[in-house]
Amino acid sequence: MNDYYKDLGVGRDASPEDIKRAYHRMARKLHPDVNADAESEDRFKRVSQAYDVLSDTDKRRAYDAGSDPYGGANSSFGQGFSFSDVMDAFFGQSAGGAGRGPQSRQSRGQDALIRLDIDLAQAVFGVERELTVDTAVACGTCHGEGSQPGTGSRSCDVCAGRGEIRQVQRSFLGQVMTSRQCSACRGFGTVISDPCFECSGEGRVRNRRSLKIRVPAGVDTGTRIQLAGSGEVGPGAGPAGDLYVEVNVTPHETFQRRGDDLHCSVEIPMTAAALGATIKLGTFDGMTDVEIKPGTQPGDVITLRGNGVTHLRGTGRGDLLVHASVQTPTKLTSAQEEALRQLAILRGEERPEGHLTPASQGLFGKLRDAFLGK
Ligand SMILES: [Zn+2]
Ligand SMILES: [Zn+2]
Repeated sequence: MNDYYKDLGVGRDASPEDIKRAYHRMARKLHPDVNADAESEDRFKRVSQAYDVLSDTDKRRAYDAGSDPYGGANSSFGQGFSFSDVMDAFFGQSAGGAGRGPQSRQSRGQDALIRLDIDLAQAVFGVERELTVDTAVACGTCHGEGSQPGTGSRSCDVCAGRGEIRQVQRSFLGQVMTSRQCSACRGFGTVISDPCFECSGEGRVRNRRSLKIRVPAGVDTGTRIQLAGSGEVGPGAGPAGDLYVEVNVTPHETFQRRGDDLHCSVEIPMTAAALGATIKLGTFDGMTDVEIKPGTQPGDVITLRGNGVTHLRGTGRGDLLVHASVQTPTKLTSAQEEALRQLAILRGEERPEGHLTPASQGLFGKLRDAFLGK
C-alpha cells in the first residue's frame, strides 16, 4: 500500500490547506517540464496520485480506513484526473476547465465627446443650449432583444448554450482542458434565428436626438461637462455611456480673459486724462460709468470690481480691468495748436528736458505690472 502522506511530506493530521500547499510546492519542483529525468517524472506521478486521494474527502477517509484506490498493480492513475490543480501550482489560479460561461448580449454603451462653441458673454453668465447629437438609442422595434417581435432566441446547439467550446486534450501529463469562444453564437450561448429588421439584431439603432444642456457660468475653453447616461446606448440596449461636452470659448473682439478677470483697453483723450472725466463703457453688464481720475497716465488700470467672469466654483465674480490708453491729439487746428502752446508756456514746458525714469516706474514697468496683474 502506498504511503500518500509520506509522498506529500505531510502528517496524517494535515488539513486540506496543508495538503494543497504541499502538493503545489512539490509539483513545482518535480514537474516534467522543469525536471526531465525519469526519477522526477516518477515522483511527480506519485505525488499527484497522493494528492488525488488526500484532497478528496471520501477517498481520504477510505484510504485512512485501509483501502487504496490506486493500490495493487492496476493503477488507474491519469484516468479522469483533473489537472486544474496542476495549473494552479504553475499559474496561481484556476486555469483548466474554468469556464467563462455565456456572455450577455447587453453591455454598456460608449462615452461620447462633443465640442460646443460659446461666446465670452455666455461663459461669463452661463447659458442654456440645445445640442444635436448623433448617437445610438435602444431599438424601438425589438426593445433591445435583437429578434423580430414574437420570435425570440434559442439556445445554441453547437455549444449547448455555454457560449464556449471545451476541448480535452491528452498529454503525457494527463488531460488538459482548453476552452474557446463558440463561433456559432459568438459566445452569447443563444442564437437569434430572425434578427430584427430595424437594428439587424444589434438591439440599438443610430439616431439623431437633441437635448438641452445648461452650461454653467464660469466655464472656460477645455472645461468638460459630464452628462451621465446621455452617451451611446450599449449593444442589446445596454446601459448608456456618458456624454461629455467640451466647451470652447471663442475669442472676444475687445475683452480678454485671464482667469476670471477680464481686461480691456479704452482710449482717453489727453485732456480728459489730465482733467478727469466720467466715461461710459459698454461692458457685459450693460453701459457702465467709469471714473477717470485727473492725472490719469497711459497704462493706468481702472478696476471695476465684480464685473468679470463668474467663478465656476464658489460664489462671486472676477474683476474688469480697464487699461487707459491716453490719446495724444493729432491734426491740430491753428486755434488748438495756439491753446496748447499757451499751456506749454504756463507750465514752463516750452523746452522740455528728457528725464530718464527708473525702469520699475516707467511705462514699461506699468505694462509689465498690468500683465502680471499687480
Ligand atoms: Zn431591433
Ligand atoms: Zn454557441
